[in-house]
Amino acid sequence: MTYRVPFVDFPAQYRCLEDEIMATVKDVFSGGDYILRDQVRQFEENMASFLGVDYAVGVNSCTDAMLLSLRAAGIGPGDEVITVAHTFVATMAVIVHCGAKPILVDIGDDYNMDVSQVESAISPRTKAIMPVHLNGRLCDMGRLMDIASKHKLIVIEDAAQALGATLDGRKAGAFGLAGCFSFYPAKLLGGAGDGGIVVTSDKDIAEKVRLYRDHGRATKEDIALFGFNSRLDNLQAAVLNVKFRYLPQWIKRRRELAGLYDKNLSHIPQLKLPPSPRDSGRYFDVFQNYVVRTQERDRLVSYLNECGIETLVSNPKPVHHHPALGLSNFRLPRTEQFAKEVVSLPMNSELSNEQVEFVTKSINNFYRGYI
Ligand SMILES: *Cc1c(COP(=O)(O)O)cnc(C)c1O
Repeated sequence: MTYRVPFVDFPAQYRCLEDEIMATVKDVFSGGDYILRDQVRQFEENMASFLGVDYAVGVNSCTDAMLLSLRAAGIGPGDEVITVAHTFVATMAVIVHCGAKPILVDIGDDYNMDVSQVESAISPRTKAIMPVHLNGRLCDMGRLMDIASKHKLIVIEDAAQALGATLDGRKAGAFGLAGCFSFYPAKLLGGAGDGGIVVTSDKDIAEKVRLYRDHGRATKEDIALFGFNSRLDNLQAAVLNVKFRYLPQWIKRRRELAGLYDKNLSHIPQLKLPPSPRDSGRYFDVFQNYVVRTQERDRLVSYLNECGIETLVSNPKPVHHHPALGLSNFRLPRTEQFAKEVVSLPMNSELSNEQVEFVTKSINNFYRGYI
């Protein structure tokens, strides 16, 4: 089905960038630059300077960025890592793949970790906290970093959805020991496939992740540890360098669209909106997703679908409720409630104002039946 308003529109973005992308692809092919060449180094420099950190190491996904960061930080069997369930499953999977145990805490109204619950989740085994900056808004990192330093815990940020978001002027990914980003195509900065990066200002972590991503090879002769194959493809880096130039304008556009949603929907009492980009105070949100909450979620989703509007319900069943994952002992009332109520409306920098107006008009029509 082709939607009148698609959730993301990859071909539309490609049409805008085709000449630049094809030129860089041609350079990569004609130079034979496939693995860890200048394009990767350039992209790492771009990201480190954009985020205000000392090092960036390109890897094949955010999942591996998190896995390699946890391992580089020494997380292993017997350790506990505090995180949330209201996220993509990968955040919990990497903890398990290190041999450690995820300890789940509930979320607040911002859909991020309820930082006030963290201290009671700390045990003698706790080694790290993994906050997730969901939907393009930072978790309350000021308070979280205070708790982490008081209890001497490592912080690794899942910043997959928050490239460019800030709190008190500091960028997501630049608070903890390491920050992890995704360049999955649907992300704010998306490649032509998978990609990820670890950012840090800790030299040891950067060096270790660099070793892990490339079979532990320190030099041509020396292997320093048993590593993985998790390099950021050079071709992906080349494409990402092109798209990186558009990042500020894409963020600006997303915030404009969020403002338009806000203006046209804020009068509907049954609908809980994210903070408006106009009054988010200390927070600068990048709106990776524009998420609304409503008790009529499922009916709203099917109504919008009939109107030709594509929406996304990320976790219709909370991750900790999948029996195979062994996490069903956690009681997370808000995570469970919000899983029934949240829906992401179309949000991408290629959307026109007219498309967003059509979405908001349709939502208004839907609620007219309820008011
Ligand atoms: C997309 C995403 C990931 C996984 O990123 P990949 O690059 O696909 O591995 C992890 N956490 C969150 C919050 C995400 O949105």
